[in-house]
Amino acid sequence: MTEQPFTMPEFPNSDPQFPPIPDIPPVQEIPGTPQDQPVPEIPRIPDDAQNPPPAAPPERPERTVTVCPVPHTMDDFSPDTIRILSLPHISQFEAESCRHKKEKPWYRRLIFLNIFLIIMTVTLVISGYDEYQKQMTDFTAEVIADYLAQSAESEDTDAEDSEDEDTADDTQEDDEKEEPDYEEFAEKIPLGYKMLGYGIALMLIGYLSLYYLNADVRSKSVKVTERNFPEVHALIHSFSDRLGMKAPEAYIVSENGILNAFSAFLFKRQYIQINSEVFEVAYREHRDMNALAFIIAHEVSHIYFGHSTLHYNAWIWFSQQLPLVSQIASRTREYSCDRLAQRLTNYDGIGSMLMLVMDRHLYYMVDVQDYLDHAAQEGGFFLWLVNLFSTHPVMTKRIRALADWNGSGELY
Ligand SMILES: [Zn+2]
Repeated sequence: MTEQPFTMPEFPNSDPQFPPIPDIPPVQEIPGTPQDQPVPEIPRIPDDAQNPPPAAPPERPERTVTVCPVPHTMDDFSPDTIRILSLPHISQFEAESCRHKKEKPWYRRLIFLNIFLIIMTVTLVISGYDEYQKQMTDFTAEVIADYLAQSAESEDTDAEDSEDEDTADDTQEDDEKEEPDYEEFAEKIPLGYKMLGYGIALMLIGYLSLYYLNADVRSKSVKVTERNFPEVHALIHSFSDRLGMKAPEAYIVSENGILNAFSAFLFKRQYIQINSEVFEVAYREHRDMNALAFIIAHEVSHIYFGHSTLHYNAWIWFSQQLPLVSQIASRTREYSCDRLAQRLTNYDGIGSMLMLVMDRHLYYMVDVQDYLDHAAQEGGFFLWLVNLFSTHPVMTKRIRALADWNGSGELY
């Protein structure tokens, strides 16, 4: 075999390391691309001196006073309102005669119970002083011992990191045994001290919650003024003037369909909340000003009789928490205020009560005489029981009492 001499294969160009670069195809113009158009100039922010003064804001449209037309002058008030506003002054004797005959006796019983609760607590506190001291000393010693044991153990753990698991478990069990038992301690505390604690908490929480409730009402309401629902404003002032008292503030709150109103108090002032749903009967449904006026008069009556004052409630602060007796006393107050509201409005108030029973749309269709006839036949143990645990008299009794115009309603 003869050796063939190696010859380099021929490359297209002279330099084998750099093959010729293939021709780059010309850039294709993408249709729609502004190739040759000039770049738009970015607008320059002018200097302060050249800045034109800001344009005047557009004029606001004039605010309308009301969305739904509510009477704003005496001429526009409903005939019912004008009738109620022209009713005469009520003497103190006449107003007092509206009180339920059992209201004052039950208030006195609540005061007695309240004082009894306070005296009992103080007596128990005094008599259980030694026991309380012993329990406190024992428990404090237990807490200190537990604290010392824990700190000693943490020091040990820092020193000996490599302890086996069994020993760790044992130590944990020991810890659990040594830990102060708070539940056991609470059980051992004498009754008087527990009652004292509950009493102080009840007073503080109760009093502060009055302010919380008021703030809540103010935050989501429309205040009744001479310009907002002036007809209602006039009624509240008329009721207050006729009773010789300062007119309370009133707030309208929407409560998602709940027909209700209440009067409440702060340190020295009272206010009324009326749910907007009750207003609808006067301004949207039946133009029934009587039904609304009666409910407002009932709340003003609570304030007149002092039910919504701090001193009235302070005397019965603790006994009011007792079941049954507080409900009975509350029912007497409701009857009293219904009766005074009748005097203030010269209206029986049955429509207002039926509105609470039937809601604001249909109460107008109830045959009152038929309702009263049936209500008179209602009775039985369980109805008695329902009434017994109610803060307000059951409607069958309450409406019958209203239909009487006189006397005190059935408590039981
Ligand atoms: Zn009431």
